[in-house]
Amino acid sequence: MNDAMQCRSCGREERASEGYPCTGCGTFVCQVCNIRGIVLCSACQAKAESTSAPGA
Ligand SMILES: [Zn+2]
Ligand SMILES: [Zn+2]
Repeated sequence: MNDAMQCRSCGREERASEGYPCTGCGTFVCQVCNIRGIVLCSACQAKAESTSAPGA
């Protein structure tokens, strides 16, 4: 059984059952990223950075 999904933060294929949904859009973010404190996929992360940036 193959439950691999591509992490939308680091791009690696990890097991979906060991990952977490992005808190922004619910897409797959792997456990490795989550341990490192990443709870957003790359798209949501970029959006969050642009909205929090001064003058944006
Ligand atoms: Zn990842
Ligand atoms: Zn997202």
